[in-house]
Amino acid sequence: MKKILIGTHNSGKFREIAYLISKKYKKISPNKLKLKSPKETGKTFLSNSKIKVKYFSKFVNYPVISDDSGLCIKSLGNKPGVYSARLAKKKGGFFLAMKFILKKLKNKKNKSAFFVCNLSYINTDKKIISVEGRIYGKISNKILGKKGFGYDPIFIPNNKKMTFGQMPKLKKMKIDHRYIAFKKLKKKIKI
Ligand code: IMP
Repeated sequence: MKKILIGTHNSGKFREIAYLISKKYKKISPNKLKLKSPKETGKTFLSNSKIKVKYFSKFVNYPVISDDSGLCIKSLGNKPGVYSARLAKKKGGFFLAMKFILKKLKNKKNKSAFFVCNLSYINTDKKIISVEGRIYGKISNKILGKKGFGYDPIFIPNNKKMTFGQMPKLKKMKIDHRYIAFKKLKKKIKI
């Protein structure tokens, strides 16, 4: 069976990416190979997803896919953006990071936000293919729902009435930024 390394330690992302890739691939996690993640020194989603995929590909002789993603909030100058994971760490977890965001947005009229996912794929030829997916929506007034991961409970996609955290997992996985990026990747390679 063909193998692919999904270069992420985030179990929510791993689950979503694994779901999107063809059943023909055995999906390997960095944990299984006892690999840590590299430092995300890039200033963009694109540069960080490339850093990850290049790093992990040094350890395997089969394809690797990695993503860099995050939540961009318009009235906060598109922050936390590439610092989404670091904000949660700094605040002591996602719940506290979400509370911090809701407080910051309390008196703001514009609650528009979007999730970005930059997916990079590298094969044994070492050529990197990168694609980006975005989903637009707004930040809710409350933390709602226990499904999903990360900032899911405060993001309501456009034309929906509930947060990602309230949606059945599969429903979210079929519309989100990772799904949109993956659809673009599928136009370029067989995966
Ligand atoms: P990184 O790509 O490892 O830097 O982490 C991205 C950060 O954005 C993590 O904190 C994720 O939990 C968060 N994030 C990315 N995608 C999603 C999503 O689909 N839902 C909720 N949070 C997300």
